[in-house]
Order: sequence, then C-alpha cells, then structure tokens
Amino acid sequence: MPFELDKIDRLGDYGGVWSLGIRCRCCDHARLIPASFLIRLYGRNRRLVPIAQRFYCSPCTGRRCACAGKDFDALIWIPR
Ligand SMILES: [Zn+2]
Ligand SMILES: [Zn+2]
Repeated sequence: MPFELDKIDRLGDYGGVWSLGIRCRCCDHARLIPASFLIRLYGRNRRLVPIAQRFYCSPCTGRRCACAGKDFDALIWIPR
C-alpha cells in the first residue's frame, strides 16, 4: 500500500522494511529504493524527508531536461 512521505519520520521506522518509491512527473521514470539501502548510507536515525529531496530523475538529468530531474512524486511502500 502506498503512503505519503510523512508516514516515515526516521529511516528506521517500521523496522526499516519499507521502500521509497519515486516517479518522475515529467518522463514517468520510476524507481523503488529499499529502506535498507538508505539505512546503510545514512543510518537509522536520519529523517527521511531531507534525504528524499536529494533524489532526482536520472533520465531527465542525463538529457538536461528543463525539470532538472526534480519534478517527482515520492511515496512510501510498506509491506503487510
Ligand atoms: Zn524524468
Ligand atoms: Zn524532465
């Protein structure tokens, strides 16, 4: 089930088993980033929102699109 980004405060929430889904509004490129990957990079106690804002759409960035790869929707996926 998808949730808004604010469902997760710290990376370790929900046992760190959720995923961050990012979909570019410009080109529709989507990727799913497991929390375990983010935790390995940043640690369990970091806040999600500032980290999610660092992501960008690589196809758009690669072709120097006007959106600069920053026009994306972010959702949280939590397995049940
Ligand atoms: Zn894109
Ligand atoms: Zn774009």
